Amino acid sequence: MTAAARSGFIAVVGAPNVGKSTLVNRLVGTKVTIVSPKVQTTRARVLGICMAGRTQLVFIDTPGIFRPQRRLDRAMVAAAWEGVAAADLTLLLVDAARGLDADTRRIIGRRRSADAPLVLALNKIDLVGKPSLLTLADALNRDGDFERSFMISALTGDGVDDLLDYLAQTLPEGSWHFPEDQVSDMPMRLLAAEITREQLYLQLHRELPYAAAVETEAWEEGEDGSVTIRQVVYIERPSQKAIVLGKRGRRVKSLGETARKELEAILERRVHLFLFVKVRENWDQDPERYRDLGLNFDA
Ligand code: GDP
Ligand code: MG
Repeated sequence: MTAAARSGFIAVVGAPNVGKSTLVNRLVGTKVTIVSPKVQTTRARVLGICMAGRTQLVFIDTPGIFRPQRRLDRAMVAAAWEGVAAADLTLLLVDAARGLDADTRRIIGRRRSADAPLVLALNKIDLVGKPSLLTLADALNRDGDFERSFMISALTGDGVDDLLDYLAQTLPEGSWHFPEDQVSDMPMRLLAAEITREQLYLQLHRELPYAAAVETEAWEEGEDGSVTIRQVVYIERPSQKAIVLGKRGRRVKSLGETARKELEAILERRVHLFLFVKVRENWDQDPERYRDLGLNFDA
């Protein structure tokens, strides 16, 4: 007799930068959500879908939960909590090197008994020694009510299979929510914009605030199997234009080249990527942008 089909949603929560997106990408086996050493790269809720045996696991990669100040931050935090409300299981990720910080305490404290069961994963164990890991696990287990605790490295993959097995066995029986080969619900145009935005973070993080947006304006399939993608990088002030363009356009060229190579790997075909830089003042006060990102303007 074959095992019953199972499926369910797992909200991945945690302070900014603990490795939520890295873990979701590893589990899914391809990039569905962007990663950077700078906090708050994941803006809206992103689904990463993977199969383990007869179980379909749908991970909800949420923006980091932190204390919101600006409107965009508030909207991101609201999206994170919405992810938790919709889930069958909640996976709390803690950065083992950073330990039990205020953000993590706030997440544990905000939980209600009606919420989905909570599973703990101490991440980045490649960075810390066993003794401090055990001390941290003890401290967390005193504070929180966890079904199970795991120690993992989303970067090296250490411990991730055990975690995946446990989650797969724990989700409820039921038919799959998505086709078996689907890895995300994010439209390709949006993912392509996210990949360029990731390069903005990685290549310009010192100079540019995180208030830059990328939109895919055109997507044309060529007869030779290639695809031509036009994107606009929106910045808030005219003075930022020179930063994105770089000397003789070198920076934007390098952004475009790296993003193009990544898109070619994901799409498995040739990509022609054209980037344009435009100023759009106060885009983070524009309700329409929030809708595009799947965020609630009035959160
Ligand atoms: P998020 O904000 O929680 O989604 O975190 P990201 O997935 O964007 O990761 C933040 C940073 O931590 C990135 O530089 C990752 O490469 C790094 N990172 C994630 N997981 C690990 C890990 O297991 N070990 C180490 N050493 N770094 C990690
Ligand atoms: Mg993230």
